[in-house]
Amino acid sequence: MGTYKIAVLPGDGIGPEVTTQALRVLERVGARFGHTFQTTQALVGAAAIEAEGDAISDATMALCQESDAILFGAVGGVSRYEGPNSKVQPERALFRLRKELELFANLRPVRPFKALLNASTLKPSILEGTDLLVVRELTGGIYFGKPSEIRQTPHGLEAIDTLLYSEGEIERIVRTAFELARGRTKKKVTSVDKANVLSSSRLWRRVAERVAADYPDITFEHLLVDACAMHLIRRPASFDVIVTENMFGDILTDEASMLAGSMGMLPSASLGTRQTAHGTFGLYEPIHGSAPDIAGQNKANPIASILSLAMLLRHSLSLEAEAQAVERAVEQVIDAGYRTEDLQEAGTTIVGTEEMGRLIAEAV
Ligand code: ATP
Ligand code: MG
Repeated sequence: MGTYKIAVLPGDGIGPEVTTQALRVLERVGARFGHTFQTTQALVGAAAIEAEGDAISDATMALCQESDAILFGAVGGVSRYEGPNSKVQPERALFRLRKELELFANLRPVRPFKALLNASTLKPSILEGTDLLVVRELTGGIYFGKPSEIRQTPHGLEAIDTLLYSEGEIERIVRTAFELARGRTKKKVTSVDKANVLSSSRLWRRVAERVAADYPDITFEHLLVDACAMHLIRRPASFDVIVTENMFGDILTDEASMLAGSMGMLPSASLGTRQTAHGTFGLYEPIHGSAPDIAGQNKANPIASILSLAMLLRHSLSLEAEAQAVERAVEQVIDAGYRTEDLQEAGTTIVGTEEMGRLIAEAV
């Protein structure tokens, strides 16, 4: 069994609030199942810029390298670091972690809880049966391509971003998607691109087809990203695994979060190939950001963070029963009618961040 080492990076805004609740749940998991979780906290984002001069220090990077997994809150949303004159952005912390730890596969499951079908803006009849997984490429594409700059020309300013993908980068993320599809019920992969316009998408499609040939047991289809955005709210239950490049995945999952009722419900896992003594090394975080508009008010929904913890237990520590215990605890508390403000509906009991965390910890 041994000790499980978890680096905890709460970050900015609601990051620390929701992470505190996830840690509370972790403590209960340890007590119930008899595990020792060794957690070490460090600063990231604006909090780290203020205290250490950088969005993530080398010492914090080293701490992450030595851990089995990282539990991450959120960074950014601090206006004095967001402007065009700011030398270091809080978001740099995430980009550095993803890039240096080679966390290229971002898994974002979307499985609306039954009791929350009415909390969505969509009709329950459309949501029924929705259980999808977006596999977003995380270390390539337009967020990392060079050049990326605003520059002076004789005719005024111009700006450039670069969307670059190598065959190898496409192949490994598509393969990850197919491997994950094998373990699921619908056994289907939808590769999402913009192949009618972008060269990078045409290469994506070609590589995806080649990989698909190795998986005759999995249904495979291509979909243009604009059509996917539409079908996600028209027939969400028809999707299983969606694999796509970095920016498309970013946008589609914010959209998909509303299927689950709120941004505050969706967890994520960012994985690479590195194995630790216990499982696959990874970083776990809610898909939402630092939500400065509600920070410090005990309003944030901690469920995305708590479900991210469940993914950490599953993928990095190979503690499946423990992961399920956390997911069941969340479902139980939702079924009992407790909601944070973002999920407000008639007939439910509104609780704050702390209270929601406590209820879920107790249910574990
Ligand atoms: P960032 O710059 O850090 O990404 P953002 O401005 O994009 O932040 P998000 O944090 O992504 O904002 O949140 C978008 C909206 O969703 C905000 O109005 C926020 O209040 C809401 N929201 C996000 N997370 C939660 C949560 N856990 N609970 C409740 N509401 C949330
Ligand atoms: Mg955001």
